[in-house]
Amino acid sequence: MGACWKVLGSLTLEGIEITQKGLQMTLSDKRQHFTLMLSELLWWARANDLHVALDYVKRSEQEQAAMVEAGASQTMNSKHLDGLAMDLLLYASGVYVTSAEPYRPLGDYWKSLDPANVWGGDWETLVDAGHFEYAG
Ligand SMILES: [Zn+2]
Repeated sequence: MGACWKVLGSLTLEGIEITQKGLQMTLSDKRQHFTLMLSELLWWARANDLHVALDYVKRSEQEQAAMVEAGASQTMNSKHLDGLAMDLLLYASGVYVTSAEPYRPLGDYWKSLDPANVWGGDWETLVDAGHFEYAG
């Protein structure tokens, strides 16, 4: 855990330095940064006795279009198309949690990892508490 945090911390700093120089992070830079934060959130959940399973990360345009049509998503600008969003399933006593509030500690921790992190539980039009994205 300690070593993992150090790696994440230095990458975050590196990202800030890149931003300050006015240069753009490439999509692969962003995906690597997102992946390390995803890992950090999963270990944090385990340490805090929150039982989660990983669902969608990267989604094709075809899959996204089908979700919009089904009303499960409202946008074709989803971060899932870039592989910069993940959906987590939270379980309590083995039962999938569908209400938003129990996901809040995960959302708060996610947002603490990077100022560009977004939690779907904060959305007002379509609350999506299991959705965590990097919008940097
Ligand atoms: Zn999602």
